[in-house]
Amino acid sequence: MREYFEKIENIQELEFFEKVKNKMVEEEKMFIVTANPETLMFAEKDDEFKKIILAPETTVVADGIGVIKGAKMLKMDLEHRILGVNLATKLLFYCNELEKSIYLLGAKPEVIEKMQEMISMNYPKAKLVGAVDGYVKDKDKIFDDIYKKQPDVVLVALGIPNQEKLIYKNYSRFNKGIFVGVGGSFDVISGSKKRAPDIFIKLNLEWLYRITSEPKRLKRFFSSNIKYMFKIIKERGKK
Ligand code: UDP
Repeated sequence: MREYFEKIENIQELEFFEKVKNKMVEEEKMFIVTANPETLMFAEKDDEFKKIILAPETTVVADGIGVIKGAKMLKMDLEHRILGVNLATKLLFYCNELEKSIYLLGAKPEVIEKMQEMISMNYPKAKLVGAVDGYVKDKDKIFDDIYKKQPDVVLVALGIPNQEKLIYKNYSRFNKGIFVGVGGSFDVISGSKKRAPDIFIKLNLEWLYRITSEPKRLKRFFSSNIKYMFKIIKERGKK
């Protein structure tokens, strides 16, 4: 786990957002992974995914509180969280402010529709150049369309590892664009799924809210998070 914690940027949220904004202004490119324990555990069992996470061109930040806790247990310097939902929202804000273009790929058709409405209402100066749900078969074809449109921001909401694999596979073609795998963020931002109440967020307990409001996540959550904790404890014993 140490290699992941070393890779994850320990940067304050505001500072990170500024950095991303600069990349947008300079028309450079960036690929961001917002990691939680599930991300790291998936990398442990999937070499291709691990390579993507550790690749020099990939920027990884800590989304889940479990990542911070795990790093702390290994006495590593990692304290700042960048939440995927916050990052996605900030990118919409920047697109509006800088009149930049954005492409959305992922989530259910009704969610992507709500995203379009929400953007035209709340971020009218953002140029939405594409909005495709995540249940279309040929996603590579969608990336051809993305390439044609050269958007400034590309948000891919397919869940791990598909969103990262898809972005990474196509990333080298691009010279500009902020590419982020945003998981279930469209569901939350569009209002289709409720975000945890503030008190849960303040106490770093949004994971608890999420698994209690969606019990089907329980198994996935416990299996990866418990294995993660065991792995950390084992590594702690080694040094
Ligand atoms: N999704 C999709 N196509 C698929 C499978 C999933 O677009 O074939 C979407 C799903 O609708 C949801 C997102 O991907 O909006 C994944 O959300 P989840 O909360 O599971 O991701 P996490 O943030 O936990 O990785």
